[in-house]
Amino acid sequence: MYYDQEISSVFEKLRTSEKGLDSREVEKRLEEYGKNELKEKEKVPIFRLLLSQFKSILIAILIIASIVSAILGEAIDAVVILFTVFLAGILGFVQEYRAEKAIELLKSLTSPEAVVIRNGAEKKIPSTELVPGDILLLQTGDRIPADARLIKEYNIKVDESSLTGESVPVQKTPDALPADTPEADRKNMVYAGTAVAYGRGKAVVTTTGMKTSFGELAGLLGTIERSRTPLQESLDKFGRWIGAATLVIVAFVAVLGVFSGFPPIDMFLWGVALAVAAIPEALPAVVTVGLGLGVRRMVKRHALIRKLPSVETLGATDIICTDKTGTLTQNKMTVEGIYVNGTVLKVTGVGYNPEGKFLKGSSEKGDSEKGDSEVPEDDKNLRVLLLGAALCNDSNLYKEEDRWKITGDPTEAALVVAAAKAGLEKSELDQKYPRLAEIPFSSESKRMTTFNKLEDGPGDFLDSELVAFSKGAPEVILGSCTKILLNGEIKDLTPEQKQEISEQVKELANQALRVMALSFRPFDEGFSPEKVSSGEIPAEKVEEDMVFSGLIGMRDPPREEAKAAIKTCEDAGIKTVMITGDHKVTAAAIARELGILKENDLTLTGSELDSLDESEFEARVEKVSVYARVYPAHKLRVVKALKKKGYVVAMTGDGVNDAPALKAADMGIAMGITGTDVSKEASSMILTDDNFASIVSAVEEGRNIFKNIKNFITYGLTAHIGEVLIVLIVILGWQILPLLAVQILWINLITDGLPPMALSVEPPDRGLMKQKPRNVEEGLITRREIVAGLGLGGLIASQALILLVWSLDNGFSISKLQTMVFTLVVFSEMFNAFNWRSDKYSVFSLGLFTNKALVYAVLTTVVLQLMVVYVPFLQFAFRTVPLSLSEWGVILALASTTLISMEIIKYLNSRKSADQKEYV
Ligand code: ATP
Repeated sequence: MYYDQEISSVFEKLRTSEKGLDSREVEKRLEEYGKNELKEKEKVPIFRLLLSQFKSILIAILIIASIVSAILGEAIDAVVILFTVFLAGILGFVQEYRAEKAIELLKSLTSPEAVVIRNGAEKKIPSTELVPGDILLLQTGDRIPADARLIKEYNIKVDESSLTGESVPVQKTPDALPADTPEADRKNMVYAGTAVAYGRGKAVVTTTGMKTSFGELAGLLGTIERSRTPLQESLDKFGRWIGAATLVIVAFVAVLGVFSGFPPIDMFLWGVALAVAAIPEALPAVVTVGLGLGVRRMVKRHALIRKLPSVETLGATDIICTDKTGTLTQNKMTVEGIYVNGTVLKVTGVGYNPEGKFLKGSSEKGDSEKGDSEVPEDDKNLRVLLLGAALCNDSNLYKEEDRWKITGDPTEAALVVAAAKAGLEKSELDQKYPRLAEIPFSSESKRMTTFNKLEDGPGDFLDSELVAFSKGAPEVILGSCTKILLNGEIKDLTPEQKQEISEQVKELANQALRVMALSFRPFDEGFSPEKVSSGEIPAEKVEEDMVFSGLIGMRDPPREEAKAAIKTCEDAGIKTVMITGDHKVTAAAIARELGILKENDLTLTGSELDSLDESEFEARVEKVSVYARVYPAHKLRVVKALKKKGYVVAMTGDGVNDAPALKAADMGIAMGITGTDVSKEASSMILTDDNFASIVSAVEEGRNIFKNIKNFITYGLTAHIGEVLIVLIVILGWQILPLLAVQILWINLITDGLPPMALSVEPPDRGLMKQKPRNVEEGLITRREIVAGLGLGGLIASQALILLVWSLDNGFSISKLQTMVFTLVVFSEMFNAFNWRSDKYSVFSLGLFTNKALVYAVLTTVVLQLMVVYVPFLQFAFRTVPLSLSEWGVILALASTTLISMEIIKYLNSRKSADQKEYV
């Protein structure tokens, strides 16, 4: 029980203090209480995973077939069938194990973190390492990682809906409560699994792990959704359809075979083998591997997939709606311009180095600084402006190894740096003018206010002991100002001055600067700012009647790679839309620079959007490429309108309130560095570097995965169709078995095994990001795949028929004929594997050896096939006979036509599309 005690006794009981625990104590407690995690469900043991490979119906049929052969005295067949079953099982197991490993990696990368105070210093640690007694720092958007007693709060509200179902956030306060307070009303406790909806707070951890009061721990982030992807579903469906069709054909032919005089046992085994050959049973597993490996490649390109099915959606993305600050820009802000006391000042200096001058100038942009005169640091107007900038601020500037570094929001840090350039050090100011209360920044209010005590009577610059400082979006701040600081005195703000200030905002924004306005308000002694923190006095009551102190404009350069990435999107038929909380003019200037905003595109602000009804908005949504001054709720509206138009929409977000839009988008993308836990949980993908270019890489990877899967499925289809055609035609036309059951099983194992795996790692080809996005409605197997499968399958069957006629003409034995057809199919499939590295580009232009995995897969297969034909023991098992050089020559010549004909088709297709381009 901690809620009914004063904070000091809570500390005593938990043997801790505001400084937190030291590392020895943490270690001891970790031993004592264990890790802060829920006991994971038992993992599937490896042997169970292995066993599960043998559960499929086809495998069962094969095992029965092997038993039947054993009973009928066909010992060799029985053993060979069992052996292939075993190999297929191992293959499936290896594939699934690899996919599992790829997913586990993701899980470890997305596990949550917490900020604590230990040894008196702030530290970020994995949430699993929290122990009772840790001092936890909480801020908006955090998922609370353990049960804790609040010790300090800045207007903290907690969303406890995950526990109570109540969606209105609960205001929390640190005061002790009566002992009979029911659990749900303990306002000084925060519980694991709930989220901070607003404000900040400090709390001491009371309970961790399985002992936490309610429900789920914050392990949510670490879970990866594993539901079957639409692709796997459609593949399953396709498999079942093909399976049923073949069974009918096979049963028909087997019966026919028995009537034409073949021994029933042969026909039974042959039927089973053919059924196994025709059903692309291993493909769903290979698809999982394809997805798993692709997901792993994406990690290297800074994109973590949280939901496996979204890999497919990613490749089909039509529109990317992206934040500006930090995603398209570097989020490295530097103050460049100031408007104070009716004049524009230029600020010099680079980066976070707090050295620079404030120049009042005659010179226009681009001119030398010669005509400029330096503004004295003690200019009262400038000092009041910068004092507010430094005090109404949560970031910090410090020097480490001779380099200036910051903590906190770069927008705020830029202000701290600017103040330091005028000799106003934030750390000193914080001591001198302590903060008594605050109204935190939110994307909705677009402002922040602090209340500071100006020590020892009248303050340094202002004649009051208590002053509120506000900073925020210019129109918001200006809207709450009735006065202005001019020449060191507070005057009434005239409409003309307001107009002039708005002009200056535009002027600064036009130079692509992010503009912040500052204001202050002196209060009388009697005013108690704590009442604002606790919500007793509403924010609007204090954020009014303020004194305007000036504007600050800062530059946030675009990321270097962003422009190229946007161009790539354009070539790939993907539209980029900027959605930002920033000013319309600033946003438009940057969007133009990056190539997002084109001549006929529209820019819409949040309030303009509000004034449009659904149908009006839908009529123009496709033309808008910049949304400025939006609230998170607008993002949801944009997503919905675009989805309604049939687009596949990706949307980025970082704040708590972005979660609904992230969930509604086809692809919700959260920021790994600046994003809140809540936004990450709502996303299907997390960017580990917050970079727009990484989204584009992920889209490319998504397209590539889909292309590869499609290609190896077509490859598999060709093989299966080829085998079935050969056997059907030969048995009906010549009453000969061209392939034995064990041979069919072997072909199957070989073609379904290594080459598809190798094809799944084929890198993106040069045309991938030049095509329009895939139509999501279009399934995996389209007419094109079926035509390709039938065409190439038919070709392989024709090769076999030529071989058959040639063998019969030369009076070869049936074993030789079978060995030749057997080898021909295997080699034809190896040539075919090269075909399906790309459905467009010649394998020679891709580079024959660029897919090393495929080269190894083919070499391995060739060696295995040679063994099957020449090693006596295997000859016995597979009923093969050695082949002569001329026979090899014929086989290779025939098999190579599989590659040659596809190359010709690719060439003709490329000619056709080139012609089309010329004549369009
Ligand atoms: P994006 O959505 O592209 O990341 P953004 O960072 O500009 O854009 P917000 O963080 O919602 O979006 O900021 C909106 C506006 O609020 C800014 O343009 C600025 O005027 C103001 N603002 C931003 N940060 C602060 C802050 N720490 N204190 C006060 N006002 C702020």
